[in-house]
Amino acid sequence: MAAQTHTFEENLAAAQAQLDRFAAEPLPHLIAGERVSSTSGESFANHSPIDGAFLGDICAGDTDDIDRAATAAADAFGEWSSTPGTERKRILHAVADLIEERAHDIAVTECVDTGQTMRFMSAAAVRGAANFRFFADRAPDAANGQSLPTDTHINYTTRNPIGPVGVITPWNTPFMLSTWKIAPALAAGCTVVHKPAEWSPFTAQMLAETAHEAGLPAGVLNVVHGMGETAGKSLTEHRAIKAVAFVGESATGSMIQAQGAPTLKRLHFELGGKNPVIVFDDADLDRAADAVVFMIYSLNGERCTSSSRALIQASVYDEVVERVATKMKNVPVGHPLDPTSIVGPLIHPRHHEKVCSYRDLAQADGATVIEGTPWDDAPDGGSWVTPMLFSDATNDMRIAREEIFGPVLTAIPFDDEADAVQIANDTDYGLAGYLWTGDVGRAHRVANALDAGMIWVNSQNVRHLPTPFGGTKASGIGRDGGDWSFDFYMETKNISVALDTHTIPKLGG
Ligand code: NAD
Repeated sequence: MAAQTHTFEENLAAAQAQLDRFAAEPLPHLIAGERVSSTSGESFANHSPIDGAFLGDICAGDTDDIDRAATAAADAFGEWSSTPGTERKRILHAVADLIEERAHDIAVTECVDTGQTMRFMSAAAVRGAANFRFFADRAPDAANGQSLPTDTHINYTTRNPIGPVGVITPWNTPFMLSTWKIAPALAAGCTVVHKPAEWSPFTAQMLAETAHEAGLPAGVLNVVHGMGETAGKSLTEHRAIKAVAFVGESATGSMIQAQGAPTLKRLHFELGGKNPVIVFDDADLDRAADAVVFMIYSLNGERCTSSSRALIQASVYDEVVERVATKMKNVPVGHPLDPTSIVGPLIHPRHHEKVCSYRDLAQADGATVIEGTPWDDAPDGGSWVTPMLFSDATNDMRIAREEIFGPVLTAIPFDDEADAVQIANDTDYGLAGYLWTGDVGRAHRVANALDAGMIWVNSQNVRHLPTPFGGTKASGIGRDGGDWSFDFYMETKNISVALDTHTIPKLGG
């Protein structure tokens, strides 16, 4: 994969070539296959998380641009939805081929736009291609339903694409996340208007351009850049848009639910998390400590499924905290394009300020702050952060209740199984839960008792694409992955055909 096969210097050169391209003109929208500016002529600046440098202007879309894109998606829907599934499969595989060919360019661009490191972004770019292949293979059967016969009627169900849909994505691993939403929509026969996050616009553009070059017809995938409150809001309110798949913060999800209400939008939400990892004293503590470290310090901790609350049995609490702290101090912070870096700069000064503010909050609340090793050569002007571990915490502290979304772990002791489950579920969120134990009965009991959409036992997050992805409570509404994605992007229809044997009531003679 790309990160390990390219040197730092090669990554820098590849990233610079992409940045030169993006700096040459304001990043346009892509509507009906055309690169177009905003009707208003407005744009906004994109800055580097590494050193704050200006990276380029981005066209700022508003209601007019969303209307143009939604109209293009509606115009293209008839032809795309009636394109045979086998042909959609062929085109989506061609998109995956071209993503693989460009995976290195995509990965380096993602790194310089978001601050995520090559170690993870090279795999994320390749995973984007895998997402396209997975749903491409399912496109020919997407419309298939069930057979539900009775003695008198043949009932069968079919699925039809719901129409043009909106996809709104956040700035953490934006390329991979966008493919996770857009690939199933296209495989189902929907057309798409994508509003990427304003802090990470570049790879959304690369995805749309790559898809068109691979043969996706004009108007099937449209991209409108801009702010959430303008472009994003207009997309959720547009009458032609039948459903909105949203990934982002829980508070934004609430707003979108209200914005979509007048047009009765179908909504799918993947929102925030404050996921517990429970370590019992009968667990393999070596493997558990590795997984705890991986699930909070990978991807800069800007990861919805990060295990940001470590609940550790009191009898092994000091030992596990010590192991995790030792590893955390060895996590290399560095330039995102350096293949040896694990943690890079955070996406934006505003997010940096938020993440760092929890250090003071932790101290004020009485937790112990353990800091990792900063990068001495970090350029000025960037949003650099040092990994942190807050120990001796309790679950009522803000560091245990709020999604920090950075390389910051809160460690809380617990007494017994009931205590662990109570603390784990005492949260507004319910995306994922991780538990470590050597007792198979306890593994099943606790997995069943945790109020979350996804549970991993004796494992970090290992994603299998056919399985359902999503959360409970403030972590989301609905599931995607496998066939669940088609349920969202398609309407199920039941067709009932009489066998001419049933009684028809005779009214009026
Ligand atoms: P955000 O909610 O601020 O923004 C996400 C997107 O929504 C952006 O494109 C933004 O422009 C848009 N937006 C903002 N206001 C809007 C509005 N009123 N109407 C329509 N669109 C609007 O989230 P973020 O800060 O970019 O991303 C971080 C969040 O995403 C975290 O909470 C994280 O947990 C969550 N996330 C969840 C998952 C998951 O699968 N559950 C995955 C990744 C990220």
